[in-house]
Amino acid sequence: MQVIETIDTLREARRGISGRVGLVPTMGALHEGHLELARVARAENDAVIVTIFVNPTQFGPGEDLHAYPRDLPGDLDKLRAEGVDLVFTPTPVLMYPEGFQTYVTVETVAQGLEGAARPGHFQGVTTVVAKLFNLTQPDAAYFGQKDAQQVVVLRRMVADLNFPLEIVVVPTVREADGLAMSSRNAYLTSEEREAAIVLSKALEVAGTAYDKGERQPEFLRRIVKAVIASERLAELEYVSVADAGSLEESQDVSDSPLLLSMVVRVGRARLLDNALLPVAYNTRAGLSEHLGKP
Ligand code: AMP
Repeated sequence: MQVIETIDTLREARRGISGRVGLVPTMGALHEGHLELARVARAENDAVIVTIFVNPTQFGPGEDLHAYPRDLPGDLDKLRAEGVDLVFTPTPVLMYPEGFQTYVTVETVAQGLEGAARPGHFQGVTTVVAKLFNLTQPDAAYFGQKDAQQVVVLRRMVADLNFPLEIVVVPTVREADGLAMSSRNAYLTSEEREAAIVLSKALEVAGTAYDKGERQPEFLRRIVKAVIASERLAELEYVSVADAGSLEESQDVSDSPLLLSMVVRVGRARLLDNALLPVAYNTRAGLSEHLGKP
C-alpha cells in the first residue's frame, strides 16, 4: 500500500494505475463504516484509493476541527488489512495553499438541513471532493448513507460539472445496538453512549409507522420528537421529513420515497442519523435509485 503526501507523487502514482479506480474520501479516525466503503470499493474496482484529510473548509467557526479525532498509524493499518492500494494524506496547506480562492457551490439541495445548520459546510465538502476527484480521477466514488444530504449534493455536483464518475452509496453501518458508527461517537461518555441509541430507536418507530401506512410528514416528525424527548441526555436539534429526491421538506401526504433525518446532541457530540422511507429502501439498490434522484 502506497502512502502519499504530495500532489506530484499522487499524480505520478495515478498515471501508473490502469483499470477501474474506486475512491473513498474520509476524514480518518476510521471505523467499520469507513472500512465497509473500502470493502465495497475493493470488490468493484481494480484499484482502491482512500484519502484521509480533516478538511478545514467544511468546519464552521466554533466547530470541532481541532478536537476531531486523528489516528493516522491506526488508520493505515486498517486500510492495509482491507487491501487498499493507495492512501493520500495531504496537509491543509497542500490542499489550500496561500492565495487559494476557488470554491464549488451547489445551490438548492445544499441549503436545507445540514446546510442550514452549518453555513458553508457543503461548500467546503464540494470544493475538497472536486479537488480529490481531479487529483485521483476515479471511475467510482464511495460515500455513506450516514451523510445522506452529502450524497444528494455530490450527485448534483457530479451531474452539473460533468465529472466522469459514478457516486456509489453504501448503507449506514451500525453498532450492534443500532447506533450509527461515527468518528464523533468517541466524544460520548459511557452514559451518553447508552443514551445515543435513542436516534436509531426513533428511526425504527417512525419507519414502522410509515410501513404500516402513516403518511403524514408532520406525524412522522412528531414520533421522532417524542422518542428523542424520552431520553434525558438527548436534545433534538432538528428532525426533517423530506422528499428523498429533491430534499424539499414534505408538507403533504405523498407516496414518493422520503428521507427522514435528524440531528441530536448528546453531551458534546452532534449525532446524525437518517433512514429512507419505506424502510425496505435502505439498501444499496434502494439508495442508488431513490436518494438524490428525481
Ligand atoms: P467522514 O470520515 O466522517 O467524513 O466519513 C467518510 C465517509 O464515510 C463518508 O462518505 C461517510 O458518509 C461515510 N461514513 C461515515 N460513517 C458511516 C457509517 N456508519 N456507515 C457508512 N458510511 C459511513
